[in-house]
Amino acid sequence: MRMVRTVVLSLGLLLLSAVLLPRVLANHSWGGYHWARTANPFTLKLGDNVSSAWKAYLSEASTDWSVSSVLDTTIVAGNGGKNCKATAGRIEVCNRKYGNNGWLGLAQVWVSSTHITQALAKMNDTYFTTNTYNKPEWRRLVMCQEIAHGFGLDHQDEAFDNTNLGTCMDYTSNPLGPPSNEHPNAHDYEELEIIYAHLDAITTVGQSTARNPGNMPEWVAAGEFGNASDWGKEIRNNGKVALYERDFGGGNKLFSFVIFAR
Ligand SMILES: [Zn+2]
Ligand SMILES: [Zn+2]
Repeated sequence: MRMVRTVVLSLGLLLLSAVLLPRVLANHSWGGYHWARTANPFTLKLGDNVSSAWKAYLSEASTDWSVSSVLDTTIVAGNGGKNCKATAGRIEVCNRKYGNNGWLGLAQVWVSSTHITQALAKMNDTYFTTNTYNKPEWRRLVMCQEIAHGFGLDHQDEAFDNTNLGTCMDYTSNPLGPPSNEHPNAHDYEELEIIYAHLDAITTVGQSTARNPGNMPEWVAAGEFGNASDWGKEIRNNGKVALYERDFGGGNKLFSFVIFAR
């Protein structure tokens, strides 16, 4: 009798967790960081510094994320230059052979108190020109994911070999799935709605003339922190994906999201 009750109870808990799981998944903001803006939907500029091999993927990711009810993205001429420097108020998107540094994709996000002020999304062609990664599905997943870190989205899942969740915010050994992890899913849009439910009195979006939103020192805002030694404290690292935090003081921080190449 006790055994039966235990089994029934376990089944009940299993069912309950299956019902609750979707809500748990829509909780992949990192620390609530967000772009300050006074109205929704707001439009984020994506600076196009990418080569012809990447144009279609940048365009696809921009279209995908603009489905969100709270934000739109628009592709503009890049400001990043050879080293992919950040520009206040937008996300610069870049690709290059950055070398055998271990990372396939890198997203860097500057924040001032709770607000995102600028971001970078970088794809490393040193690996994207190899047989393993020179595939549309890998280009789609990494482009889609690195841009979205710049919105304040974290991963939905970081396990390498489990079943895909059907979102580019799920790291995987097999982007094609099925289901495919090449595009956002409903939970990503839901999470964006949660992150951007409130409005702010100020804006950190699109301030192309003011390089210095909030109280961020110029050397932080204009700095290049492309090397692992610049990334600061390791927050988490499972060998496949990692997050680093560099604290500059005064509420100014740089977050670096890394996808490692195998
Ligand atoms: Zn806010
Ligand atoms: Zn990531």
